[in-house]
Amino acid sequence: MSEEATLREDICRFAQSLYARGLTHGSTGNISARLSDGSVLITPTGSSFGFLDPARLSKLDASLAFVSGPKPTKELPLHSALYRTRHERAGAVVHLHSTYSVALSMLPDTDPDDVLPPLTPYAIMQLGRVKLLPYFRPGDDAMGRAVEALEGTRSAILLANHGPVVAGRDLASAVYATEELEASARLTLLTRDMKPCPLSCDAVAELRARHPD
Ligand SMILES: [Zn+2]
Repeated sequence: MSEEATLREDICRFAQSLYARGLTHGSTGNISARLSDGSVLITPTGSSFGFLDPARLSKLDASLAFVSGPKPTKELPLHSALYRTRHERAGAVVHLHSTYSVALSMLPDTDPDDVLPPLTPYAIMQLGRVKLLPYFRPGDDAMGRAVEALEGTRSAILLANHGPVVAGRDLASAVYATEELEASARLTLLTRDMKPCPLSCDAVAELRARHPD
């Protein structure tokens, strides 16, 4: 199977898995991934992760201009902003409306510069510091501009009252990191009134030095 045919299948398989586990619902969420020639496959507008067709994905060229297939998701600017600012560190981008991440984005004591308390090493290893951006109307171009303004310094971003956007070096890394964010948000909410013991400052510093944002 060609590289493109394999990537089309993989996008649909990961999307179906996310949908089956309730990590995004209805026609929410979008996934994009780059081919080795720089072109990008992205899920179409209005599509459901449960019912994607590998033959019906949108294709963009290396400059992120539309090439073929159905109309891309209207949240394309989120993806474009990460590809333009993270370059080779962004081989794929995943955006979900996952419940616990959205819940955490709305709480008054969430630190906008570092959303997750340091509870587990994997969140730090896979996500770095997660940045909280304010609320934007879906489809508002300002949303993409706000991600672009981070200048590629963050791989994991949480849009307030909306959901996470995560870039990874490849499709599997981006999906797994997004799952890590949702699981960590859940853990944070489950333990927030229980005074959990966080990782020590030394442990966090060691992990951050080995795994930069
Ligand atoms: Zn969205």
